[in-house]
Amino acid sequence: MARRSCQPAATTTKILECRYRACISCGGRMWHDYNNFRRVRTLKGVVQLHLKIRRCPDPQCDRFRVPYRPEAEGQWALPQHEFGLDVIVLVGALRHQQHRSVPEIHQHLQQCQVQVSERTVSNLLARYDELLAVKLGDSERIAAMVGKQQRVILALDGLQPDVGHEVLWVMRDCLSGEILLAKTLLSATSADLSALLLQVKQALMVPVVAVVSDGQQSIRKAVATALPEAAHGLCQFHYLREAAKQIYDADRHAKKELKKRVRGVRAIERSVTDSPGEMGEVVQGYCQAVRAALTDDGRPPLDAAGLRLHERLEAIEHSLGRVEQTQNLPNRSPD
Ligand SMILES: [Zn+2]
Repeated sequence: MARRSCQPAATTTKILECRYRACISCGGRMWHDYNNFRRVRTLKGVVQLHLKIRRCPDPQCDRFRVPYRPEAEGQWALPQHEFGLDVIVLVGALRHQQHRSVPEIHQHLQQCQVQVSERTVSNLLARYDELLAVKLGDSERIAAMVGKQQRVILALDGLQPDVGHEVLWVMRDCLSGEILLAKTLLSATSADLSALLLQVKQALMVPVVAVVSDGQQSIRKAVATALPEAAHGLCQFHYLREAAKQIYDADRHAKKELKKRVRGVRAIERSVTDSPGEMGEVVQGYCQAVRAALTDDGRPPLDAAGLRLHERLEAIEHSLGRVEQTQNLPNRSPD
């Protein structure tokens, strides 16, 4: 499609990394080899995609120097396309669900700040219809492509133009970038999704070795049911952030409770300041150790402050226990 005006400038940049970094063929580490840049017009503005491409460096491997692109790329746009998949999905929904005409859709996109000509809207609508027409079993091209690579890494995305609209589920292969199946569903229960996954699995002549998704509960269940043998790679950052919130809250609470138990440390310190001597020094040393432990904040989310305080207090307690044994001191009071 010839372009009359030049592409608008990007408003944001998005860096995309590969989620799978081990070579799917030999299991060795794929190196970050080079970058690609793509500018995509989406409903949220013009996005510059910075793609970090990896390749297997092993000359013995059948995927030696075969590029592996970030899995999320296909979520943004179809291969070689300058409009976002979200724009295409909106165009399709406006046409087929709301029965709007091409000029009406054109107007709607302009209101959404998407710079587009009316002729391009017709092209986008054609892309949408092509997308939904992909029939796995009939496509010799897809069969030849996945046959050559002997396996598929399946990415699964649900695109919803707006609340209340149908969700377009797109399944694609991350190794070839091919769309394998696209289907609109009114609901997205795990049963609906696992039926779609089974459809893909049965039509492919090669195994689905891994799945990439955003890890919604319904998707996870569907993958576990339909593709139990496939690894399910979830976005590490997403998961760490989600998991860390609960861990952070629990840890903060634990630290507060631990602090209550050593509240008396200042009183003990004061009581020995007027009694110099060996014993006074020892007690002061322990008090300092307790105070230092209390001010050590750790680094959330991976280095939890409460757990660290617990470890340090435990070490102090063990040390006190040893002193008791060797010096035959009178027993400490329980608090
Ligand atoms: Zn390899």
